[in-house]
Amino acid sequence: MARTPRPDITGPARVRFAPSPTGSLHVGGARTALFNWLIARNTGGTFVLRLEDTDAERSTGESEAEILRCLTWLGLDWDEGPFRQSERGAVYAAAVDRLRETRAIYPAYETDEELEAQRVAARADKKAPVVRGQRDRTPEEIAAFEAEGRRPAWRFAVDVAGETVIDDYVRGPVTFSHGAIEDFVVVRSDGSPTYNLAAAVDDLEMGITHVVRGEDHISNTPKQMMVIRALGGETPAYAHIPLILGPDKKRLSKRHGAASVEDLEAAGFLPRAAVNALALLGWSFDDKTTMFTVPELVDGFSITRVSKSPAIFDMTKLKVINGRHLRLMSAPEFEEALVGWLRQTGYLEGKDEALVRASAPLVKRKISTFAEYDDLAGWLFRPLEIEPEAWDVLMRDVKHSIQVIGGGLGRLESLPEWTPEAVKDALQDQLHVMGEAARDFLEPQRIAVTGRTVSTGTYESLALLGREESFARYRSTLGRLAEQWAAA
Ligand code: GLU
Repeated sequence: MARTPRPDITGPARVRFAPSPTGSLHVGGARTALFNWLIARNTGGTFVLRLEDTDAERSTGESEAEILRCLTWLGLDWDEGPFRQSERGAVYAAAVDRLRETRAIYPAYETDEELEAQRVAARADKKAPVVRGQRDRTPEEIAAFEAEGRRPAWRFAVDVAGETVIDDYVRGPVTFSHGAIEDFVVVRSDGSPTYNLAAAVDDLEMGITHVVRGEDHISNTPKQMMVIRALGGETPAYAHIPLILGPDKKRLSKRHGAASVEDLEAAGFLPRAAVNALALLGWSFDDKTTMFTVPELVDGFSITRVSKSPAIFDMTKLKVINGRHLRLMSAPEFEEALVGWLRQTGYLEGKDEALVRASAPLVKRKISTFAEYDDLAGWLFRPLEIEPEAWDVLMRDVKHSIQVIGGGLGRLESLPEWTPEAVKDALQDQLHVMGEAARDFLEPQRIAVTGRTVSTGTYESLALLGREESFARYRSTLGRLAEQWAAA
């Protein structure tokens, strides 16, 4: 039976992005941040940024800085924070005191070996390997353990007969029987709070109304809901968004072209196109629209249109989206963005910037990411080098190649002015004079000077390269072809 979907989130929503600063900002994290940000912006709500750095060994300042930098690059500005869990020890200690007073948690003195024995016994019994501590230790037992030097972990006393239902925005109602939920640790034996405690306390204390996060967290949710309820709070609403896989249905990794925001940056994506593409990982507006500006996403995003099946990250589609955003730019905006990216990646060093700028309108028509600039226009900055595929095209019929390239050169040599229009008129006229088909005549001309099967257009390429350099390249290509012809 079809389920009546939950009505959309109406604002103002207080949402949060809560990354663990243990590495780069991966695509899945960025998508989570984006969905939260879109909800905050389209409900007139608040986007809270919280760094979950309670794992002191794995959390680093570099990772934190990288996450903030990537969010900024994407344009996902936060309204509150960044808060760091490592600086909120007092908040967690106060919550733990309250949980202790109401006996929602208890000190568990079981050793690792004892806990493992419980798991083994449960498995032998074909039951879920759920561990629980002994909840009703006498003061004498406790004193004896302490005298031995044992320090307890504090565990949550799960109401084993009960169940917790998440009315999930994406997955619908999800029921967890408590029999399968262990008495999870809230404070480790070294006194540090666990993720499940800190996240629940923070969501409550920060007044978070909607928790939108990856599906991999769904088994934590009933635990966090229990903590919040034990503290007398109301649980937020939850939305668990689907995993992101590569086109081969495997977990997303760098093999798929990009796995982090940094990879997208390095691949020459525009932030707005990255945002557009990230939004489509699990969400759709309808079944056909793929181009969105950021304001359109803010207007159009709805958590009720997030799918629960895994999202597929397809670099080819991403590039198409990026190319379309590039073509929507005005000529000056494109030129500045291109030059900025080439400068940042060091590509401009030792190159004629004016020539790069002059090439911008030419590449704009074909380019899908800035990283393709060299493929399209790099030939302008290097001595002529004919790539093997391009040489094969010329070698298909050496005699014909010599005739058309020679014919093109002869005609261009008599040109009084050197502009794309003049070059175009001359070559068009020449191809008619020679009775050639356009492609058969023009492709060899382009290869003769660019050395490539894929590059900027023929006339513009010649115009950019300049008269003398164009002639030099024509002659060099003709020379090589003549050698082949003589040898044959
Ligand atoms: N810190 C968790 C992570 O990076 C996110 C937890 C959450 O959103 O509640 O996976």
